[in-house]
Amino acid sequence: MSGIEALTKVSERRIRKDPVALSPRPNLLDYEAERSRFDWADAWKLLDGLPGGRGCNIAHEAVDRHATGALADKIAIRWIGKTGARRDLTYSDLCRETNRFANALAGLGVTPGERVYVLMGRLPELYVAVLGTLKARCVASPLFSAFGPEPIATRIGIGEGRVLVTTPELYRRKVESVREKMPSLEHVILVGDGVAEGPGLHRWSVLVDGASADCEIGPTGAEDMALLHFTSGTTGRPKGAIHVHGAVVAHHVTGFYALDLHKDDIFWCTADPGWVTGTSYGILAPLTNGVTSIVLEAEFDAQTWYSTLERERVTVWYTAPTAIRMMMRLGAQAAKSYDLSALRFAASVGEPLNPEAVVWGLEAFGLPFHDNWWQTETGGIMIANLAALDIKPGSMGVPLPGIEAAILRHKDGRNVEVIDEPMIEGELALKRGWPSMMRGYLNEEERYAKCFVGDWYLTGDLARRDEDGYYWFVGRADDVIKSAGHLIGPFEVESALMEHPAVAEAGVIGKPDPTIGEIVKAFVALKPGREPSEQLRKELHGHARKRLGPAVAPKEIDFCANLPKTRSGKIMRRLLKARELGLPEGDLSTLESNET
Ligand code: AMP
Repeated sequence: MSGIEALTKVSERRIRKDPVALSPRPNLLDYEAERSRFDWADAWKLLDGLPGGRGCNIAHEAVDRHATGALADKIAIRWIGKTGARRDLTYSDLCRETNRFANALAGLGVTPGERVYVLMGRLPELYVAVLGTLKARCVASPLFSAFGPEPIATRIGIGEGRVLVTTPELYRRKVESVREKMPSLEHVILVGDGVAEGPGLHRWSVLVDGASADCEIGPTGAEDMALLHFTSGTTGRPKGAIHVHGAVVAHHVTGFYALDLHKDDIFWCTADPGWVTGTSYGILAPLTNGVTSIVLEAEFDAQTWYSTLERERVTVWYTAPTAIRMMMRLGAQAAKSYDLSALRFAASVGEPLNPEAVVWGLEAFGLPFHDNWWQTETGGIMIANLAALDIKPGSMGVPLPGIEAAILRHKDGRNVEVIDEPMIEGELALKRGWPSMMRGYLNEEERYAKCFVGDWYLTGDLARRDEDGYYWFVGRADDVIKSAGHLIGPFEVESALMEHPAVAEAGVIGKPDPTIGEIVKAFVALKPGREPSEQLRKELHGHARKRLGPAVAPKEIDFCANLPKTRSGKIMRRLLKARELGLPEGDLSTLESNET
C-alpha cells in the first residue's frame, strides 16, 4: 500500500496519498501546475495525425501508428472467451484485421459518413469492426447486445444504419422480426457459425477474412463524425450523441491522466462497448496509449473477475459501482484469497460510488477505488479522483486539466449564474471547448440546443463543489427531493443506508406529501442472510436519522428483493417512483431483464 494511507476519521474521511512514494510515478503528479499549463492545442502533439498531413483519424492513433512503430508486436487486445478460449491480437494483427474490415465495407459500396452498427457480445470481431469502420471513415455505433428488438430497431432507425455486424443467433432473435422497420439497413455481416436468413446477409469469414489486408486511411477531418452513441433522456426517444475523430485527443489524454495509463500496463475496462465507457475506455484510450487491454467475454461473476485480475496480472482496472457492490457482498476475504499484487490503480464510473465502497477497496485490494465522472455527451472523463491526489470518498474528484467545471444556479428563464461559494447545490456545467464533446444529437437540434446556456454545457446533474475544488454528486436534476423546504439528494440518503451492515443496495425517491411537499422514501435490498423484519426497519430508521438528521432521513422504508436497474447498472428511481405511485412505468427497454 505504498504511498496510500487510509484515514478513517468519519468527520474528515480522506484517503491520503504521498504521490512521491507511488510507483510508478503518476502521470499527473502536480495537478495545479498541469492544470494551469495545459492547452488542448498542445495535447495534439501527443498524437501523430495521418501521414502526409491528411488529417486526424481515431483508428490511426489507436492502431496504425503503433503497428508501424516499436509496439507492432505488442499485444493490443487479449481476448478471453466464455469457454476459456483465448486470442491475442498484437497491434500489427489489429492493423491488418481492421484493414480487411475497412476494405470489406468499401467492397460493399459503403462510403464515408455512413453508419455501421455493431451488435454482439464482446468478441474480437466487435473491436475489429469498430476500428475498421473508423478507418473506412464511416460512423461506428455499438449497440448493447442485451437490447431487445425494439430498442435495436429504434436506434438503427434514428441513425439510418446501412450496415449491421452481428451474429446469426442475435440476428434471428432480435433483428429478423424488426427488419422491415429498418429500411436503410442493406448489409448484415454475420460473425461465426450458425444459420440466418434475410436480405443482404454476408459471412464475416468470407467477406472480411477474404478482403485485402492493405489499406491506407483516406483524408479525415478532425470534425468528421466518427461515433454515434445513444443515450436516454428523461422523456422522448433515445438521443444519438455525435462524436468526431478529433475526440481521440481527449480519449488519449484522459486515459493518461485519469486512468494513469503507463506503457507497461495491463488494463481492464469491464464496461461493454454497447455503452460509451466500453468504447472510449474499453477500446480507444488504452490503444492510443499503447497498452495491453483485457477483454473478457463472460458476464459479471465475482470469482471469474477475481481470477481474471489474478491470472492476467491486471495493473489498472476500470469498473463500475454495481459490480463493486456485488463484490462487497461476498466480503473482502474473497478478494484476499487471490494474488492481486499486480493491481496498482482501480477506478470506477457510471453511477454514484458510495464512500464505503471506496474504502472497501483498501480493505479488499489495498487500493481505494478512484471514482470519476462523465457522460455519453462528454465523450470522455471530465472529473476524476487522480492517482496523485488525496481521495475524498464519496466525491467524484476534480476537473481534469483542460476541463472547466462549475456549479450553476438557474435564475429566471434561461439565465444562470456561477455559484462561487463551496458546498452549494446546483447544476453541474462544463465550459464548451474540449475535443470529445458531442457535436450534436443526430437530427435533434432543439434537444441539443437546450443543453447549453451561453458557453456552458448543462449536464443535467446536480452537484456541489467543496472548498478544495472536489465535486460531489447529488443526483440527476430530476431526481432531487424537496422535503419541508430542504433539497435532499437521494444519493446522500442511499449512501447512509448502505453503511448499515444489513443493506446491500438502496434506492430513494421523493413521495408526494400534502404537508411537506415530498417525504423521503427508501427501498432497500438486504444482503444475503438478512431477512426483512419490523425490528430491522426500525433499526434502519434509527441509523438513517442518526446519520442524516430527521429532516433528511427517510420517513418510509420498504424492503424489496431487488431494485430495478438499467442494464448499465443505474438504479431506476423513476420506476420505483412510478410503481410507488401506481403510475405508468414508461419505457422499460433499458431495464435489467430479471426485472421484467
Ligand atoms: P451515461 O451517459 O449513461 O454514461 O450516464 C451519465 C450519467 O451517469 C451522469 O450524468 C450521471 O448522472 C451518472 N454518473 C456518471 N458517473 C458518475 C459518478 N462518478 N457519480 C455519480 N453519477 C455518475
